Amino acid sequence: MERRREIYFLDGVPQVGTRYYGIVDQGTNVVEVRPTSLCPLNCVFCSVAAGPLEGRRWADFTVKKDALVDALKAVVRYKGDGVEVHIDGMGEPAVYSDLVDLVQDVKSIRGVSVASMQSRMFTLTERSVEELAEAGLDRINLSLDAVDPPLAARLANAGYYDPRRAMALAEYAVRNTSIDVVVSPVWLPGVNDDQMPKIARWAKAAGLGKRWPPVLIQKYIPHRRGRNPRGVKAVDWGAFWSRIRAWEAQLGMKLDWRGENPFGVERRAELPKPIKAGQRIKVRIVGRGVFRNEYLAVSNRLADDPLIDRAVTVISEKPLKPGDEAVVKVFEDEDNILMARAEVVFL
Ligand code: SF4
Repeated sequence: MERRREIYFLDGVPQVGTRYYGIVDQGTNVVEVRPTSLCPLNCVFCSVAAGPLEGRRWADFTVKKDALVDALKAVVRYKGDGVEVHIDGMGEPAVYSDLVDLVQDVKSIRGVSVASMQSRMFTLTERSVEELAEAGLDRINLSLDAVDPPLAARLANAGYYDPRRAMALAEYAVRNTSIDVVVSPVWLPGVNDDQMPKIARWAKAAGLGKRWPPVLIQKYIPHRRGRNPRGVKAVDWGAFWSRIRAWEAQLGMKLDWRGENPFGVERRAELPKPIKAGQRIKVRIVGRGVFRNEYLAVSNRLADDPLIDRAVTVISEKPLKPGDEAVVKVFEDEDNILMARAEVVFL
């Protein structure tokens, strides 16, 4: 099996329609922006199977900042005021080379009230944290699943990952800049149970949560396309919340924020759905998709309108190449993420 991975620097393609990059709308005032699928870690529980060691990935994506921002302007105009733009993706957004400019552009869009990002922070520096603050970044959701360095490196499957670096940068951010940091560890039952109270105590002592809750413990949910560590069993929601309440009692700290909406998430009109599940459409192949046998394609009829134009993920056992045209049947359209199967290919 060929293991070489291609990296695409995308411009001139629709920004809505795929999980790989671009804009994901879930019908709320929080719009997710995905600048890159690259990530330097290989977390053993990664829900999107990112990182250099993953054999199932055969391509990664980075988007040209201006193309992303142009499309985002149209999406924010459609959504109205009070929009949070959350920079995230199938990778680590902090490795995106235009991140500071992206934040600046995002924050200058009329209607954007909050700019936030997900990150492990360990690739940042004090200087880049300051630059992000100056550009207008309001919040970093810090992914940190262990404070003990050997366990953290084992979970990241990367000897070069040191959680102390991320923690020091988070402390620097909340003490010296306007950025708030919310730590969001994934609880892996039986693996990092003892780390959750340690993380929560550290967050409180470090002054995280200046404007938002300091700690949001995440439930481990196995994903079909993700990496699911052997021997780790996901608990059900009932067991999850009772464990959260037990930690709350132990720490004297609020960890259950259900019903309080501290992030101000509101329902907003979804983007139009010009292509729906069940439809057959003609597409042009742009290149590989992230996972083997997946391809990135664009609909053949583009309107030059970011609210209407769509990228499509095409699954094909038969190898396809850029420029090929195909008739595909769309089988999934949730949140305007279009998954399709190739039926007829015109080479
Ligand atoms: S969990 Fe995040 S940091 Fe870890 S491999 Fe996945 S994308 Fe990278």
